[in-house]
Amino acid sequence: MANKSLIDWTDSTWNYITGCNKISEGCANCYAERVATTRLRGRCGYPEDNPFKVTLHPDKLEQPLNWKRPRMIFVCSMSDLFNENVPDEEISKVFEIMRRADHHIFQVLTKRAERMQQFISNVITKEKMLSQFNHVWCGVSIENNKHKYRADFLRITHAVIKFISFEPLIGPVNEVDLSGINWVIVGGETGGNARQMQEHWVDDVFGRCHDYEGNLKVPFFFKQWGVHKPRNYNKLYRGEYHQHLPAFEPNPERETITKAVDEGCAKTLQML
Ligand code: SF4
Repeated sequence: MANKSLIDWTDSTWNYITGCNKISEGCANCYAERVATTRLRGRCGYPEDNPFKVTLHPDKLEQPLNWKRPRMIFVCSMSDLFNENVPDEEISKVFEIMRRADHHIFQVLTKRAERMQQFISNVITKEKMLSQFNHVWCGVSIENNKHKYRADFLRITHAVIKFISFEPLIGPVNEVDLSGINWVIVGGETGGNARQMQEHWVDDVFGRCHDYEGNLKVPFFFKQWGVHKPRNYNKLYRGEYHQHLPAFEPNPERETITKAVDEGCAKTLQML
């Protein structure tokens, strides 16, 4: 699969836009910045002088249309689609490609929750989002309780699937309201200066993803502990893999795709 991603909760990344700027504590050891300023500096369309500035890659715009096999696509993994330096017209181009490439699932993840909510309300509109964009999952990153407001903007965002990525989880998130949220991802930090994720922070999220009888009510995806656990245990939480995806209405007229995650763990998705 072209552009195959190593991120377990997606299949491929699509980077029409790269570059960003830091807005909160979770950005301190930004992976996208690290890669842009080292091995991609001056290469693959990344500027030599300031490789992490917001940059368009026109040759990548239509990439998803050329991927015939349905897949989950992480949109702008090397940027933030709703960064203040990305004009509305460019975001609209991304949405237009997502509309046309509706054999895929698109995963849009941002820390700019307010702009995402307003863009979708004002430019895309609720009616179109729920009819023509039901294959576009919208998510926000939250690293600690201080940024719990991002979940509140997400809750009022018109999207069929709304998800929260608690990654890198660098503090408790017990004040984040999970009502109306369809999917939760948890992950620790990677890289040289990684801050350690505490197990009781994960316990809190895991617990709130379950009802009183212990049934899973919000699909929970445990990505990794980060650099502070041995490789063998890095993707295990409570001794098990937890790699659930959101439930969504199967449409038998669309193709079935399968994504293999780790040994022996296969997820079968019915495309909307
Ligand atoms: S918002 Fe995301 S891409 Fe932008 S600096 Fe922060 S972590 Fe990096």
